[in-house]
Amino acid sequence: MRDSFVHKGKRKILVDYLRQRIGISDENVLSAMNEVPRHLFIESIFEDFAYEDRAFPILAHQTISHPSTVAEQSELLQVKPGEKVLEIGTGCGYQTAVLLAMRAHVYTVERQKDLFDFSKKKLRELHLYPKFQSFGDGFAGLPTFAPFDKIIVTCGASTLPAELLKQLNIGGKMVIPLGPTDEQVLYRFTKVGPTEFEKEEFGAYKFVPMLGSTNQ
Ligand code: SAH
Repeated sequence: MRDSFVHKGKRKILVDYLRQRIGISDENVLSAMNEVPRHLFIESIFEDFAYEDRAFPILAHQTISHPSTVAEQSELLQVKPGEKVLEIGTGCGYQTAVLLAMRAHVYTVERQKDLFDFSKKKLRELHLYPKFQSFGDGFAGLPTFAPFDKIIVTCGASTLPAELLKQLNIGGKMVIPLGPTDEQVLYRFTKVGPTEFEKEEFGAYKFVPMLGSTNQ
């Protein structure tokens, strides 16, 4: 598969939809969504639908998030170029690519070996370079590289991962879906002191579950 004028045209329509219908206004997010070829991260049978606001199955029974969810999470993160961002749940690497297009320095963790391998290969193919890609359990974060300016969790956690909050800079933000398997609420935590956080709520979503340990 390639990135053709047809794909580019469809991306433009998606970006208009994200701006007008979903209400995304961060130009850094919109230009990143316009840049990243989503169809190259999914199976070719879904190619024609890649720029519709739909989730698709990826390897290891996981899913690539809806483009609107990727855009909303990215906007809530308020990424500035050069910031250090930790992503939990690399999946196929699409959200990683969007963060890289937003000129973040990205560190990403995936617990499924198949997806870790897939995303690593895919991002290299597209000449996209996270600072570090880890095969591991995101509940532990990446202590070696902490602290981070921002943390994005792309799977739904049933409990708040305390270790991740520790790895945030003061002033840093973490966007995370929290709740049971069938439905979560999206939250943004802002670290205002060593152990103090402000918490904001952004409505109901359905993410794949955040699971402990790794799966070879
Ligand atoms: N951002 C991804 C979304 C993938 S779905 C994309 O654009 O494709 C969420 C991912 O989180 C899945 O790949 C799942 O395997 C992963 N995940 C679940 N629990 C995890 C954990 N504890 N640590 C790291 N990754 C985890």
